[in-house]
Amino acid sequence: MIPVFTPEITTSDIFSVLKNLRRNNISGNSPIVEEFEKNFSKLYEDKNAIAVSNGSVALDVALNLFNFSDGDEVILPSFTIISCLAAVIRSGATPVFCDVDINTWNMTIKDIEKVYSKNTKAVLAVHTYGLSADILNIKEFCDKNNLFLIEDSAEAHGLKVNKKLCGTFGDVSTFSFYANKHITTGEGGMVLTNTKDLADKAKQIRNLDFQSRKRFAHENLFWNYRMGGMQASLGISQLKKLDSTIKFKKNQGNTYTDLFDNYQNYIQLPKTNYLNSNNHYWVYGIILKKEGIRDKVIKDLFEKGIETRPFFHPLHLQSALPIQFINSKKLPNSEILGKNGLYIPMGKHINVKLQKKIVYETVQSIKKFI
Ligand SMILES: *Cc1c(COP(=O)(O)O)cnc(C)c1O
Repeated sequence: MIPVFTPEITTSDIFSVLKNLRRNNISGNSPIVEEFEKNFSKLYEDKNAIAVSNGSVALDVALNLFNFSDGDEVILPSFTIISCLAAVIRSGATPVFCDVDINTWNMTIKDIEKVYSKNTKAVLAVHTYGLSADILNIKEFCDKNNLFLIEDSAEAHGLKVNKKLCGTFGDVSTFSFYANKHITTGEGGMVLTNTKDLADKAKQIRNLDFQSRKRFAHENLFWNYRMGGMQASLGISQLKKLDSTIKFKKNQGNTYTDLFDNYQNYIQLPKTNYLNSNNHYWVYGIILKKEGIRDKVIKDLFEKGIETRPFFHPLHLQSALPIQFINSKKLPNSEILGKNGLYIPMGKHINVKLQKKIVYETVQSIKKFI
């Protein structure tokens, strides 16, 4: 079986973890966690970095920084991961879904303007699959209308828009270091904030509302969202390889695009660039032009030993969506992507020969069902 991804753990990763294990740097309060935060922050304009246990938790911390109350609306794309929806609802705000662009698969300012209301308090912008959201216009819109901007950059480590990194536009931004992300700590996440006040609050949310002065006096019932020392050790060595990881994935993605070039009557390919930046292919997604055969193609490829994944199922169609947030607004692009999109294997375990095989078999499977 060709897995859809494999994390790349090198000797330097192993040494970094072993070294810190030997030094007893294992808890979430060990200095190695701060070192990881510092290194991450250096990469991101010296913003405040707060390491947490995963990217979903990072979203929870981010959304909880703004004290939303009943009726406050947060705009988010329907075409994204469930973590975004869960975090908005848990923060006490009302989720309002916008659609995404059919070519970049990302939210644009036009999508946001369609659902903006006088109750809108924040926009949760997500950068999806290797391209960015329409972040320059979104930021301008948020500034003009006094909205908080939260940026989910879990799929966008190192991605730049006009030479500025995704994750540096928002008031708060979040990252994931899950095993399939461009930087991995196995499980892990990061929150970035502009101000020390927000950073202090984020640290309290991360750590059971422990305060520095009165240690066991708590004003809030928060969870333990700390990142452990071993994760941070891995993060430190992974961070050093970010540029080469991205270079590798861009190269692999572009090879797929070349190989699929002749089959564009069956398949819509990912855009190679957007907003002055090249797709860095966190995953390589394709949209089947023939409706309703995606699941059959996935099953057929699996039987041929090729693992793939369907695209996100739109959030506005999730049965987990509480009834009071359901409305009849159509978000056609999110639905088309959710129904007909899939992504194919990427990573160091794939060479060009395998890429050719994957492309060949994918095209064969599609032809079988049309
Ligand atoms: C991976 C991901 C997350 C969640 O991160 P976890 O570490 O898996 O909890 C959140 N948002 C996006 C866009 C992601 O891709």
